[in-house]
Amino acid sequence: MRCKTIGLIGGMSWESSSEYYRLLNETVRARFGDLHSAPCILFSVDFNEIATLQRAGDWAALTKKMIGCAQALEQAGAELLLICTNTMHRMADEVQAAAGIPLVHIADVTGARIAQAGLKKVGLLGTLYTMEQTFYRERVAEGFGLEVLIPEEGDRANVHKVIFSELCLGQTLDASRQFYRDVIQRLVERGAEAIILGCTEIMLLISGEDSPVPLFDTTAIHVQAALKEALSE
Ligand code: GLU
Repeated sequence: MRCKTIGLIGGMSWESSSEYYRLLNETVRARFGDLHSAPCILFSVDFNEIATLQRAGDWAALTKKMIGCAQALEQAGAELLLICTNTMHRMADEVQAAAGIPLVHIADVTGARIAQAGLKKVGLLGTLYTMEQTFYRERVAEGFGLEVLIPEEGDRANVHKVIFSELCLGQTLDASRQFYRDVIQRLVERGAEAIILGCTEIMLLISGEDSPVPLFDTTAIHVQAALKEALSE
């Protein structure tokens, strides 16, 4: 097996980074057998610092941090990069420009999957930053000819709150699962043919049976795309 060393910028939160680590290794073992596992390097940040800067809207400082992580991973021997959060793809272009190794963009690989499935109108769940700012929605819409719906304002606030007050702290509550099901239902009533789980922790709470339409789990899609790239010559 020749698998490139995957550099993970993680810890945002570590609850989802541990899913990346598990999925990378499980997939490699399923494919190659024996004791094979995925060569990777994780730079895990202190998420409290990141979340504080996000709340302050200090995206310039966050960009600097992400570039520093990417360069450290590259120096340590990483051959490709993953930012293990949708939100922090806000500065993906700057990170890619500063790094000498390719970055697998979570919105691009997710958008490509949705387009391949022949779908046109999708609902997006994620942090307020991902749902409300344009960096993610426009990339998916313009890159793949999709219409992206986001929940109504009150729903957006609660979707965000569940991410930061529960999922990033390792809590999955039945009441929140039911709330997410209801939000998905409301998006479907507005015409969504599928839902992007556009935050890497949502897969901890929601699975296929919670939705009447297909779910696109960005954590799983990102891992699969990274391995496709890592295993290509
Ligand atoms: N993991 C989340 C995401 O995919 C949220 C954490 C963050 O704000 O970076 O967006």
